[in-house]
Amino acid sequence: SLIPDYLAEALADVEADVSGEPAGYIPELAAADPDRLGAVFATLDGTIYGAGDIDTEFTIQSISKPFAYALALADRGFDAVLAKVGVEPSGEAFNEISLEDETGRPRNPMINAGAITTHSLVGSPDLDPARRVTRVVEGLSAFAGRPLSVDEAVCASEMEEAWRNLAIANMLRSHRILTEDPRAVVDGYVRQCSVLVTARDLGIMAATLANRGVNPLSGEQVVAEPVVRQVLSVMATCGMYDAAGDWATQVGIPAKSGVAGGLIGALPGQLGIATFSPRLDVHGNSVRGVSLFERFSSDAGMHVMAAP
Ligand code: GLU
Repeated sequence: SLIPDYLAEALADVEADVSGEPAGYIPELAAADPDRLGAVFATLDGTIYGAGDIDTEFTIQSISKPFAYALALADRGFDAVLAKVGVEPSGEAFNEISLEDETGRPRNPMINAGAITTHSLVGSPDLDPARRVTRVVEGLSAFAGRPLSVDEAVCASEMEEAWRNLAIANMLRSHRILTEDPRAVVDGYVRQCSVLVTARDLGIMAATLANRGVNPLSGEQVVAEPVVRQVLSVMATCGMYDAAGDWATQVGIPAKSGVAGGLIGALPGQLGIATFSPRLDVHGNSVRGVSLFERFSSDAGMHVMAAP
């Protein structure tokens, strides 16, 4: 196949770009090898095409957000989730301390305020925090098609510096968007962000979204089709933080980035895409990941708003 050669060529083209910095606010992430670079195309029949570092583990971070949102929608239903988390793009940074004026809801599930709330909505309402984390990790594993685990060192490191997420959770508690101990929710959310994945895993997770919720490797229907449509819509409008509008016009693929350097895109009915490169731009998106997606989108005509 020509695809692995194409991917290797694309990596070679972006390799020299060493601009940006790995995330510094989580001490353990700052220690990651910034030169890692990998890309994966995962087709809906379960074929994986990859180049570069596609089996290196790193933490999923914010790429967990759309998947946790899917689990919350599946477990609690649309009405219960929408009552607590909106679907409006915020145009704000991922860790902005803000809520909708009228409802007190976080604006969307892709910013931290919404993601912390979403985490609290996974599982049944009376689930204890530790079991909820288990449900989240098992859910992410079902999307990946293999059992995933938590990087305890990254998790502990982030918890030591989690002041801002704790502030957000306390604000959510004061508005009764959260109804339990804010610290326990942040702890669970940080564990969710510390799940270890590879670019290969992320490619399959993206392909599961592209494939109407059916994991192309395991054949499991992980979540129902209406849930997938909701998740992809929110990724399309809110997945790239305050760069979401640039992304929508330049790349045009529903996507989500994470501060450890991962980036996924899901082309409905067609393909899951994942890249890994730890240096980030000012928005917190992977520099070389964004370049790769721009290139994939234009080379292969992947923009969802462009007629084939
Ligand atoms: N765990 C990170 C945080 O909440 C995730 C941020 C990200 O990946 O953008 O700060």
